[in-house]
Amino acid sequence: VDILILGGTIITMDEERGVLKDGSVLIRDNRIEFVGSRSDGESFSAEKVIEARGKYVLPGFINMHCHMFQVLLRTVGADMILLDWLKTAIWPIVPKMSYEDVYNGALLAIAENIKSGVTTIVEMHYGNPHFEAVLRAFEDTKIRGFLARGFYEVEAYEPLREKADDILEDLKGLMEKYENVMPGPMHPCFVSNDLLVAAKELADRFGRNYYTHLAESEEDVQLLVKREGKRDAELLHDLNILDEKFIGVHACRLNDREIAYLGESRSNTVHCPTSNMYIADGVSPVIELSRRGVNVCLATDGPASTGRQDFFSEMKTAALLHKVYHDNPAIIKAKDVLRMATVNGAKALGIKAGMIKEGYLADLIILDMWKVNTVHSYDPIGAVVYSATPENVDTVIVDGRVLMEGRRLTLLEEDDILRKAYRTAERLISSRN
Ligand SMILES: [Zn+2]
Repeated sequence: VDILILGGTIITMDEERGVLKDGSVLIRDNRIEFVGSRSDGESFSAEKVIEARGKYVLPGFINMHCHMFQVLLRTVGADMILLDWLKTAIWPIVPKMSYEDVYNGALLAIAENIKSGVTTIVEMHYGNPHFEAVLRAFEDTKIRGFLARGFYEVEAYEPLREKADDILEDLKGLMEKYENVMPGPMHPCFVSNDLLVAAKELADRFGRNYYTHLAESEEDVQLLVKREGKRDAELLHDLNILDEKFIGVHACRLNDREIAYLGESRSNTVHCPTSNMYIADGVSPVIELSRRGVNVCLATDGPASTGRQDFFSEMKTAALLHKVYHDNPAIIKAKDVLRMATVNGAKALGIKAGMIKEGYLADLIILDMWKVNTVHSYDPIGAVVYSATPENVDTVIVDGRVLMEGRRLTLLEEDDILRKAYRTAERLISSRN
């Protein structure tokens, strides 16, 4: 269906266009065909016309890191250090999950993401073999989804470990069958050097990203230092894994040499500020990383270590964290954060999205700003980052398809999703030990 959006403030995220007041956007099939003034837009006709007066139109958010099954484990293991949290919330439950459990969790997580204005999710699934349940949920919900096929080989809790040959065979099978699958070593300390390199060869052969948790906690890093005498990004640099296809999640515990390696290789990192604060992992040096050429993206991380998948909260938290950390409110601006949430994610994934621009994928959201928290704002980008909440998200369009309108999910039965997820979570949590 062709869609014509008329009126509204268009936050294009395109450096040349900036913010257009009283603009219009024309979508044909899954692409943006025209961006301009309302009066120019009115010369087009389309099957569906959306009146956006008083609303903001902007690119959908790209949630670069998630563990969707964790919607079933919210607040289990709250207020614990990482290792205790893993022992309480993750290890006793995740290996026991069925295909249907993973699917039910994914539907809830995707619904929550859509309602928060997310149009692309990168899911890192691990702990059970139901990767195809995640891929089916992407397909059924029509969100743009990527799957990092997570794996543990060494050091980790025994039931989670897999043999290198089995991992490679399964990974290769998934990558042949699906274009949106990439390798996802859970952390360099949990995978042998041989397998880290073999997974990179596979990623390159298929032209995919390479995705891993990177320098999340000092505990993980020290496990690797004990084994290799090197920290995370040092090892990955020496193994020739860092490049513009590399995506390292968290990137908290980095020394200066590691930041240089990530910058010189034009690598990508994913900032998960709420999760890092929740588990007290540390502060990712995103200002320094950006200055040195790293493409820094943004994500919620799994809801068991954040509480909720709220991209507005994530943007605001990112801004506040670095302002206070550097004792400087100007060190990071609303626009920098919104770029992390849109343009940078698209760049890391190599998709033509993250901007409202002709020829780009029609992944965009419409915010209703006629609300108590946003009725008047001087600066539209500041309003999105500091004032808006998921309640402002009115319409979500992915690949030219309307997934939410008037805050109602168009393809999904929300009540049904809630009921199934509730029952699944009750059963899983009571089955612990
Ligand atoms: Zn994670």
